[in-house]
Amino acid sequence: MKKTAPVNKIIPFSNVDGPGNRTSIFFQGCPFNCRFCHNPETIHLCISCGACVPGCPTKALRIDKEGKVQWDSSLCVQCDTCIRTCPHDASPRVRWMTVEDVMKEVRRSAPYIGGITVSGGECTLQNEFLIELFTELHKLGKTCLMDSNGSFDFEADPRTLSVSEGVMLDVKAVEPGWNNHLISHPREVVLKNLDYLLSVGKLQEVRTVIFPHRDAENEATVRYVAEHIGNRCPYKLIRYRPFGVREQYQAELGTFSTEEAYAERFARLAREKGAVGAFVV
Ligand code: SF4
Ligand code: SF4
Repeated sequence: MKKTAPVNKIIPFSNVDGPGNRTSIFFQGCPFNCRFCHNPETIHLCISCGACVPGCPTKALRIDKEGKVQWDSSLCVQCDTCIRTCPHDASPRVRWMTVEDVMKEVRRSAPYIGGITVSGGECTLQNEFLIELFTELHKLGKTCLMDSNGSFDFEADPRTLSVSEGVMLDVKAVEPGWNNHLISHPREVVLKNLDYLLSVGKLQEVRTVIFPHRDAENEATVRYVAEHIGNRCPYKLIRYRPFGVREQYQAELGTFSTEEAYAERFARLAREKGAVGAFVV
């Protein structure tokens, strides 16, 4: 039987998911539960509870004879009511695709892109699928990047990395208490990946979210990352934005975005510590 993977969406052209123009593939499912996640509907797989079905204004959702929720993309108007309704941080609009299904979509944009970026959710939950997909994409001459939360130990199983041009790694927090509170997942494997990816020359970029009024937490993470990466890859400092963040966490983290001037303080710190490629978005 052919391998399939749950795909949340494919964006044919993106210039924010790695260098140049790329196709971005977002997989469903993530082992983290970050409080600041702005697309929490990608965290879990749908369990077909049916709660979102009655609210769909175009009848794009139905429950089939096996009790599974089915989505008809031709009827969907992308109103997101189902996502707002879902109590499980899931989405009914996920397609289980084979490598060939994905390749068919990528071939349409292939003349205009330099490569693809896989993201999520967390793309490395689909490692076996990625190995086949990247192998096919390389035959087309396309580069393959992974946008990862660092939860997968790349050194312990380097097969996916060996068919990829590299990883854009999130380092969300380094101070243990703040990390555990923010992410609900141990930080050790992420920090191990930071060192390992640097050592094999496959760290394409590091990303850290800068939170409003969190001087000590922001500084600890930025200082650690900057001292580790130096000038070996870009360091993207992303301003926290409340859009999409679950309400209970917005109440804690902020209902407003991190101000640019505040984030710039940490970019300056990163550059002082050697990360000359630090910038704010
Ligand atoms: S986004 Fe969800 S609720 Fe809205 S039309 Fe599509 S399936 Fe229905
Ligand atoms: S998307 Fe959420 S609400 Fe809809 S059926 Fe799946 S788990 Fe239930």
